[in-house]
Amino acid sequence: MNAPERSRFDWTREDLAELFEGEPRYRVDQVWQGLYEHGTEPDEWSNVPKALRARAAEALPAALTLATESVSDDGATVKWLWNLADGRRVETVLMAYPDRATVCVSSQAGCAMACGFCATGQAGFDRHLSTGEIVEQVVVARRRAAQADRRLSNVVFMGMGEPFANYDRTWEAVHRIHDDIGIGARHITLSTVGVVPGIKRLTEADLPVNLAVSLHLANDAERDELVPINRRYPLAVLAEACDAYVEATHRRLSFEWALIDGVNDTDRHARELADYARPLRAHVNLIPLNPTPGYAVRGTPPRQVRVFADRLGELGINATIRRTRGTDIDAACGQLRASQGHTTKVTLSERAP
Ligand code: SAH
Repeated sequence: MNAPERSRFDWTREDLAELFEGEPRYRVDQVWQGLYEHGTEPDEWSNVPKALRARAAEALPAALTLATESVSDDGATVKWLWNLADGRRVETVLMAYPDRATVCVSSQAGCAMACGFCATGQAGFDRHLSTGEIVEQVVVARRRAAQADRRLSNVVFMGMGEPFANYDRTWEAVHRIHDDIGIGARHITLSTVGVVPGIKRLTEADLPVNLAVSLHLANDAERDELVPINRRYPLAVLAEACDAYVEATHRRLSFEWALIDGVNDTDRHARELADYARPLRAHVNLIPLNPTPGYAVRGTPPRQVRVFADRLGELGINATIRRTRGTDIDAACGQLRASQGHTTKVTLSERAP
């Protein structure tokens, strides 16, 4: 199932030229600038005549309506839960760091990949997001960052959904984010559970964005269970696609590894991961698991996280421990929607990110 109606960032420039046929050509540029460069609402476009602003507001509806906004205690993480036009819900997270501000966007409402530990996977798949629904998340986050005098610098596709299961719309969104919003390809990261056809397409793609693969386990028997797509694209097939990607693009590949107590954090797991990552010269991001209601296993305790990271270092693998952000606001994948059920709570905070 697809998005119900065309929202404002689904329109191409050509579509807009048709919509505003009869108007001077530069009007389309002004509308485009208002949408993409300034990220403002039609009624704020002071360089556009009022009647045209009204037409734009009517013809170009926003895709995202706020259901809930949560701000972490330190103000550095903002998480939004959005209602889409058809009532589906997705999440977006904005994270401010000293040196950058990153938005984590969703590419689907729900997800069909069914990874055991993931709240989105536990809830199942609703539908693909349109290009406009993806782009608007970035525009909203950029505006929010600007209100706190921050420049949105990075976009990661690590929210709800599997971007490579929605490749065309995702890639078009990547282009808008790059071409029109002006975020450099090196500052855009696509994260996949290991959908091999998507990795192959990215290898040939025309923008050098970053690739992250959510590995979590490096033996087939265990990965088949935790990450079911592994049965379709087992580790050897995945490694082959990753290798071709690295060879063709000379870019650094990263593996995501959510550390789960007793499940993938033992010495054997470190060795398996090292053996898998080494020939690909991959970087490993270790993320302590965020607990989810549907998965009765804890995250690895901090001390063991350190041990695991050090062990990878001894084995010649570069690993970074990612700080968990926004645990107090359910900011892990799919958690806000899961904890909100179907009630609508609006928490508008004055706090800047
Ligand atoms: N489907 C894509 C992108 C969305 S998930 C992918 O799998 O990469 C983004 C990242 O969050 C993935 O690495 C995913 O495994 C991880 N993740 C999901 N649930 C998590 C949880 N409860 N704790 C920690 N990481 C989680």
